[in-house]
Amino acid sequence: MIHNIARDVQAFTSNAFLVSPEARGGHGDDGRTVLVDAGANFDAVSHLEGDVDHLDAVVLTHTHPDHVGNVDAIRERFGVETWGFDGSHDAVDNAVDDGDVVRIGTGDYRALHTPGHAVDHLCLHDPDGGVLFAGDLVFAGGSFGRTDLPGGDRATLVESIERVVDTVGPELQALHTGHGPSVVDEPSRALELSLQAARTR
Ligand SMILES: [Zn+2]
Repeated sequence: MIHNIARDVQAFTSNAFLVSPEARGGHGDDGRTVLVDAGANFDAVSHLEGDVDHLDAVVLTHTHPDHVGNVDAIRERFGVETWGFDGSHDAVDNAVDDGDVVRIGTGDYRALHTPGHAVDHLCLHDPDGGVLFAGDLVFAGGSFGRTDLPGGDRATLVESIERVVDTVGPELQALHTGHGPSVVDEPSRALELSLQAARTR
């Protein structure tokens, strides 16, 4: 199950996706409870306490403040470590390289280093479940990540989107982005629209 704990928050925050293992046949499960991005400027700890009694990991798509602002509070309350591309960043306890596989819920997600919006940007793709966490690479409705922040670069962003499009293929079932709504209706088409817009705008 994937639940955006920042969905109803009116503050400058990214989305923050709580991924819990599905219960199978009433038994326990071998999956991991993981938060993808921590969000910022809202009480993520209280929200998480209402949903889960532990967290196995926090995985960060990148370290912009709106994605990592809640990291310290979550680390302190749940005794959980974080994973992200830039192991030298204060918010990142464990480095994830391009191609590494990270278990999120019951999915095995491959990390794709996808710079352009941020130098340390990762997308996370589960080829079996057809799920992509895209961070701030693309958004619903043909939008794409801004490239005017330090480390941003439009040509690099386009290359990253191209790589993601080639990687996820037409089988993609769900696209979860760092801001705005997720796309479950033709998500691979949404990726294509964002790619076209990033190339031409
Ligand atoms: Zn960002």
